[in-house]
Amino acid sequence: MSSVHSRLLFPLLFALLLANSCRSGMREDSERGEPTIHWWGVYSFYEVPFAGEEQFRAEYGALEPIARGSRGPIYRVPAAKTEWLEENGYRRINDVPFRYVDPDIDRRRESDDPAVWFSGYKDRETVEKILLYFEKSRPDLCRRYVIGKSVRNRPIEALRISKNPEVDEDEPSLMFNGAHHGNELLSIDYVLDMAALLLDVPGVPVSAALRARFAGFTPEERRRILESFEVWIVPVVNPDGLDDYWNRSIHAGRKNARGVDLNRNYPFYWGTGQTGASGNSADVHDYRGPSAGSEPETRVMMDFAERERFTVVFSYHTFATRVLFPYTIDGVMNPWPDRAWFYARSWAGSGESFRRERQYEAARKLYSVDGTDQDWLFFKYGTLAYIVEGSMNSPVYSEGLRSIAGMRPIWKAALLQMAAGPRLELKVVDASGYPIRGAEIRLLDEVRFENERWTVHPQTGRFDLLPGPLEQLHLEIAADGYQTARKKILCKNICKEKFYLTR
Ligand SMILES: [Zn+2]
Repeated sequence: MSSVHSRLLFPLLFALLLANSCRSGMREDSERGEPTIHWWGVYSFYEVPFAGEEQFRAEYGALEPIARGSRGPIYRVPAAKTEWLEENGYRRINDVPFRYVDPDIDRRRESDDPAVWFSGYKDRETVEKILLYFEKSRPDLCRRYVIGKSVRNRPIEALRISKNPEVDEDEPSLMFNGAHHGNELLSIDYVLDMAALLLDVPGVPVSAALRARFAGFTPEERRRILESFEVWIVPVVNPDGLDDYWNRSIHAGRKNARGVDLNRNYPFYWGTGQTGASGNSADVHDYRGPSAGSEPETRVMMDFAERERFTVVFSYHTFATRVLFPYTIDGVMNPWPDRAWFYARSWAGSGESFRRERQYEAARKLYSVDGTDQDWLFFKYGTLAYIVEGSMNSPVYSEGLRSIAGMRPIWKAALLQMAAGPRLELKVVDASGYPIRGAEIRLLDEVRFENERWTVHPQTGRFDLLPGPLEQLHLEIAADGYQTARKKILCKNICKEKFYLTR
């Protein structure tokens, strides 16, 4: 660049930067404007034949093509300015990979600066870099694990966040996961934002203006959570879908590489046949798969749950703005009193959607859906498992940051409530102190309709219980070959109870 040009350009660039930052600052401060919650309200794509390129440039100025199409370059144009293209018969391209929408991903991924990774949506490689960075900057507080592989043999990564992260501690396990649906990019951000704040690493994304209102943790809150729990994150359950979304097509990312909707594939009331509950062929967006738990990604998450016996799970999705609690299938009865509902209601209300027409609420379902992870987790282990639907769908990232910030009060309320209690840590052992495999935890004041049988962790004899609206817990502990034990517990905060069963 010549010196004449730079003398002219630098003040201009500076003025542009300033104008831009002021505008975004104002927008976030006022929080009055309705955000554009989809990216497709922002950009459209057109193929411009070589013969028409000059005319196009005369109309649209200095746009750079985003890719090469078969008949000419493809341009990303503002969605509000497509009239001329439509009138002149240019071909609109609807089936694009997300990197056409967000071409800056290449620069962000190649960067070595965590602040840059956090300045936009993440692809698989960027998530991996972030997890490695977390581990490197907080080795005393987190550890990365590969818990399994996808259909295309990609690693499914997890991070354990806890004091002494290299060992299995005898603590309640919690899990926050994203991207069961690989096209729901914000679901990954909700997970990573929480992890960054819990680990207190620099470079978390939301602006200073929003951070004041949607703060992270106090040092005391962090200490308490890190000492009390094993907090697991799995930012990308479906790495093949995420990769398809970025690099193949925005229509391909929801499902796994075999065309299966992972959140219809779990083995609880799999394939009920109810209308709209799940699809029966790979052509449809909600294909349940050839059999229950048929997919490698589903089995990885199931094995993980069997090992960890999570107390609470958040599975993030977008963008219905709901905290969904089990069961989501018509005709399947929730236990009463409904402990899962109790917490969903308590946590959902604190979220901020930044959408005038839709605020966060607890709901049992959007419509009847079968084969979800949350229903299976609740049925199988008594895990209070929630599908947490964020408020936006990959809008431009400056808008997405509002959705990330607005999710903070929800997961924060959940973590703080679990840290404070009331909460029970139960242990069931024999006379010699060994855990009793298959010992069942019953709540005599809870009516169950689906034959749920919740048993202790086979290796530790542990069972963690959130009492919900039950003030006094009337527990019954039963195991084959042992005398049944009963106890009434009035639990106000954290209650540790050990049951010795005798033959
Ligand atoms: Zn989803």
